[in-house]
Order: sequence, then structure tokens, then C-alpha cells
Amino acid sequence: MTEKKPYPADMMEKLVSLAKRRGFIYQGSEIYGGLAGTYDYGPLGTALKNNIKNIWWRMFVDGRDDMYGMDASILMNPRVWETTGHVAGFADPLSECTKCKKRFRTDQIEDRTKCPECGGALGPERQFNMMLKTQVGAMEDSSSISYLRPETAQGMFVNFKNVVDSFHPKMPFGLGQTGKAFRNEITPRDFIFRLRELEQMEVEYFVKESDWQRAFEEWRVAMNTWIDTVGIDRARTHEVEIGDGDRAHYSKRTIDFEFEYPFGQKELYGLAYRTDFDLSRHSEASKVDLSYRDEEVGEKFIPHCIEPSFGLDRTMLAVLLSAYTEDTMGDSPREYLKFHPRVAPIKVAVSPLLKNKPELVEKAREVYDMLKKDIPQIMWDDNGNVGKRYRRQDEIGTPFCVTIDFDTLGETPEHKDTVTVRDRDTGNQKRLSIGDLKNYILEQIK
Ligand code: ATP
Repeated sequence: MTEKKPYPADMMEKLVSLAKRRGFIYQGSEIYGGLAGTYDYGPLGTALKNNIKNIWWRMFVDGRDDMYGMDASILMNPRVWETTGHVAGFADPLSECTKCKKRFRTDQIEDRTKCPECGGALGPERQFNMMLKTQVGAMEDSSSISYLRPETAQGMFVNFKNVVDSFHPKMPFGLGQTGKAFRNEITPRDFIFRLRELEQMEVEYFVKESDWQRAFEEWRVAMNTWIDTVGIDRARTHEVEIGDGDRAHYSKRTIDFEFEYPFGQKELYGLAYRTDFDLSRHSEASKVDLSYRDEEVGEKFIPHCIEPSFGLDRTMLAVLLSAYTEDTMGDSPREYLKFHPRVAPIKVAVSPLLKNKPELVEKAREVYDMLKKDIPQIMWDDNGNVGKRYRRQDEIGTPFCVTIDFDTLGETPEHKDTVTVRDRDTGNQKRLSIGDLKNYILEQIK
């Protein structure tokens, strides 16, 4: 068990401020006053997100022989959502304050009779459906109603037969995809924790019924490996077995992976045994046979399904919170993001020691151009003095800073064609030859 460091006071304010200031995450449509439940990822946030998504894809799709990648449409035939029960039942309990008219999710407030904001009386509880409705096509009647998908999962269930017919996979096998999902959350909040537009990375893993416990355990372990791989603090992560009364109707076993956020311990990921619920329901409703034929034993059956579900935005939040560190370096306090180098949005910054010495700048450009070919997440940084550059790079989590100085040019002959490489976490510097630099960095960002 790793040791858990406490969050500093005002953790969320500090993180939101750093994320905005340094180009990770902005409020959605900010210049128009924002749109609740939406955030925009800036250049560094996008790089971090892409790195996380690519690691996921490599680990759970490309890295396995039993997985097939998918990219299904966000808009689906509305019958999909009638069949799954989402149109009728994808709802949270809502009450409106009779005084200030604000609306609340009643399962999230302590006293269900009183408004948590103004103390007024809360009105009766009703079910509020979270599906985001839209109109598809030119007809503006009920025949054109569709929904923005509330989960990526169904895009995989409805393509189950297509993939089986194209690839004839052997059981067990799975489908994986990443993509946007939409939920009209009653109270979006806590930065990117509860959004109305979110991104998911999901796997539907198909097994014989008799094999579900083994597969469930395999995915439980894989999810923990993932948590370590992207640098989420395991000491703050907890597996919570969801009891009989609290599981979704289709699930026979669910584990929630919860994370200790500064605003409480809440869901990060879910792992569910969905039985044969989805394929059976879609078979019945569409009249298309979604059973699987095992040629070896001549058996035909509807596969059962294990679903590891990862929220990408919650991953971003947990990675950022796990990386956020305050310490003292030299004599001054420092605030920095201690990312694992494999997720860091910028892997290396390259600087000339002084920006007004053309021979240093020219040599630094040469090193920068050489590295950029194999390490595209690189930054040229010649602003201010070296100490300030290091602090700025620490703040965005850059693991290595390379500086070209007079020794590089041969002032001390034995150091010719070497550069200094500074380590973000310790502040220590060492000299490496330019020829060894690329492999040194590549080795550590794997
Ligand atoms: P919660 O109980 O927090 O509303 P949920 O149980 O409805 O979540 P699932 O339906 O299991 O969530 O969705 C799978 C994953 O998608 C979650 O584990 C989470 O990582 C992510 N997720 C769900 N809703 C949101 C949201 N509103 N904003 C950001 N991520 C979300």
C-alpha cells in the first residue's frame, strides 16, 4: 500500500485555477458565461487526454488478441433506448424548491424536505429523465425524435452480430470503444466530475455463462493495473461491492471503483456483470437472432457480458489530483504536477541557457528538431531565466528539461556535445551526450 498524502487546503480551487491558467481545462463557452455541465479541454488537457485514451486503447484493445475496436454513432435508432429501458427509466429523483425554484437531486441531499440553498420547503419528488433528446431530419414530429447516447455500451451490443459475422471470434472475446456520451444531469458539479457531456471508454466482454466469475476477476485485476499505469493514487482508490438492492436491474454483480476526491469518496469506474440482459432484449425487440454459435461443440447460446466502464473525464480528474504536489525546492515553495512521464502532456522542454546568444540558440534548435521527430510532445522554452523556466515546466508536469549551455559548444572540452537534463521531481541535473538523449527520454516515457 502506498502512503496517502493529504490534499492541501482549497485543493479544488487550486486545481481549477492551475488547469485554466496553464491551458488544461477551460469552462465551456466561457466568453458567453459558460454552459453548466460542459468544460473544454485546452492544448495541454487535450494532450493529456489523448495520452490516456491511447494507453487505454493499447492496453485493452490493440494489446490483446481477444478484443475488437469499435466507433459507433452517437445518434442511434430510438428503439435502442426503448429496449434497454432508458427512455422509461434512466432517471434521477428531483425536487424543486417552492421558494427559490432551484432544482435538486434528492438522493444527494441530507434533509429531503428543506432546500439546501435557501432553506425553503422542497416540493414533491418526481423522476427526471436524463436522456438528452434531439430531432433528427426535417420532420418536426414524434417520428424524428432521437437521443444523444447516455453511454457508449449500446453501440457495441447492437453491432455484436456484425463483428461476429465479420471476424468469427472465439469465445471469450470483447468489443471496446471510446467516445462521447450525454446525460442531462440535474446538478452538474465538482469541476469535470459530473458533466452533461462526458467521454467514456468501455468494454463489453462476452463469455459463456459458466465463465463469468473468472472473467469478472480478470477484469477486476486489469482495472487495478490500469489505475497504476496512468498514475492514479491507489491509496485513494477503493473497490466497493454494490449490494443486492442497489445494483442496476440488469446486473448480477457490480463493483464500483471509488476515488477519494477532495469533495468526498465517489465513483471513478464501474465493473458490472450484465448477464445476457442486453443481447437478449435486443434480440427480442429487433427480431434479429443475436445468439452465438460455438462451432467446436455445435452449441448455440446468447453470451453473457462483463462490462468494465471507465469515465475519461473522471480519469483526468483523478490523474490530476494524484499528480498535484506542493513542496519546497531551494528556498521557495513549489506547486507542480507529478505526472507519470507516459501521461505527461509535454515530455521534454528544450532551452538555450541564454536566448541572446545565437550560437546557443542555434545548437538548441538543432537538439529540439532532432528530438521532435520521435518525441512530438516537446516544447521550446526560451522565456525568462532558467530557474523560472524550470518552475513553469514543473507546473505543467514536464518530466525533463534539457538545457544547451556553453559546455555543449565545447567551453569545457570534455563536455562538448553534452547537455544538462533536469529531473522534475528532484531538481537534480545530469549531463548526457546529445547522442544518448533521445533513447534516454524514450525509455522513460514508455
Ligand atoms: P454516478 O453514480 O456518479 O452518476 P453512474 O453510476 O451513473 O455514475 P455509469 O452509468 O456506471 O455511472 O457510467 C460509467 C462511468 O461513466 C462512470 O463510472 C463514470 O466514470 C462516468 N460518468 C458517468 N456519469 C458521468 C458524468 N455525469 N460526468 C462524468 N463522468 C460520468
